[in-house]
Amino acid sequence: MSQTSFDIQQAAVIGAGTMGRGIVMCLANAGIAVQWVDNNPQMLEQALATVADTYAHNVRQGRIDQVEADARLARISAAADYPAIRNVDLVIEAVYENLELKQKIFRELDGLLKPEALLASNTSALDIDAIAAATRRPSQVLGLHFFSPAHIMKLLEIVRGAQTSPPALEAALALGKRMGKVSVVSGNCHGFIGNRMLHPYVLEARKMLLEGAYPQQVDAALQGFGFAMGPFRMYDVVGIDLEWRARELAGKGQDAPEVQVDNRLCEMGRFGQKSGNGYYHYEPGSRQAEPDPEVDALVLRVSEGLGFQRRAIGPEEILERCLLALVNEGAKILQEGIAGSAHDIDLVYLNGYGFPADKGGPMAWADQQGLADIHQRLLALQTRQGDQWQPARLIGELAAQGKGFAER
Ligand code: NAD
Repeated sequence: MSQTSFDIQQAAVIGAGTMGRGIVMCLANAGIAVQWVDNNPQMLEQALATVADTYAHNVRQGRIDQVEADARLARISAAADYPAIRNVDLVIEAVYENLELKQKIFRELDGLLKPEALLASNTSALDIDAIAAATRRPSQVLGLHFFSPAHIMKLLEIVRGAQTSPPALEAALALGKRMGKVSVVSGNCHGFIGNRMLHPYVLEARKMLLEGAYPQQVDAALQGFGFAMGPFRMYDVVGIDLEWRARELAGKGQDAPEVQVDNRLCEMGRFGQKSGNGYYHYEPGSRQAEPDPEVDALVLRVSEGLGFQRRAIGPEEILERCLLALVNEGAKILQEGIAGSAHDIDLVYLNGYGFPADKGGPMAWADQQGLADIHQRLLALQTRQGDQWQPARLIGELAAQGKGFAER
């Protein structure tokens, strides 16, 4: 397939939920006509109204004029079913995070779309190759991982499957540019670059709740370092229920000690900001996260119930464990070739995860510390807490050569 055959003029988005809404606006704002499908007609109607409201709001704010708002809105249309979108150049799927569902949709679309159309998934973590395998065009399947809210967040992770062709990747990069995104290419692994690194970072935060900390202490330490939000405030924004439901659907992970606080919160209907309560309390109409004594009592109850002897955990330990968890996983991502460079990893964390800009990103921060120092600190954690802290091979190698990640 030649590069020009991937010229993207018309697109379709499947799914009119949180992500679909933002993605549709990204495309329309970039001048691309977009058809929108959701198997729930009410959801689609609601989503179209929300998009119209967003543009009206942008006009009131003076960000765009009415002519531009009308033009953007006119590029978006509802489509009744998949046959209606058969002529598009690109489909971006943003339905529930479920592999079988995504495979079913990709299989059906593959049978309908023209041979040169590209198929992309907005999955946060699922295997792009397994999705591509449901089609007869795996070289034209890739991940386009937008961040929430998609029309505002700058980052776009472009996930390269094992069979994604270079021209398909080029087309995705060109699209990212047209949409004004900071695009980073990631290899295919669970969670790609950003969410794969987030996993051990959040795991440490959750473990510290069980060992003796409270959500506001963990968040305050990381916000003190300069993060836009600590992990628990972030979960309140994203929705604590997303992972809870995913664990439920996958039928695994629900018994792990670290997720017991999340599980109890979700069982109480405390899903985060959207339900007025999560790790924090929110007054109606407010996004101000207020520490909630009920949550502290819950944390205490869960951790004591699991047999933890609680101890005081200071901000230094919180920073050490959360930051080194990020760096060590980042190093593994680099040594495996999932990320092309340490700079790409930093771009992901600066543009998608609120890492403090003045620190340059987790890998640049580690380089500033010196990798020999990082190596020693990981070894110290390994001695105290176990082999999950074993330093990535790359850190030892670079430290021995007196190099940083940037000089690799
Ligand atoms: P959501 O629950 O808000 O929306 C999903 C939409 O898909 C719903 O409107 C639903 O009606 C529709 N849908 C379900 N099955 C369908 C089908 N068979 N055909 C057509 N439409 C169907 O979900 P979301 O938060 O927008 O997430 C969508 C995807 O984006 C997931 O894969 C998620 O992992 C990923 N993602 C989410 C976020 C986030 O912060 N929410 C961030 C990045 C990526």
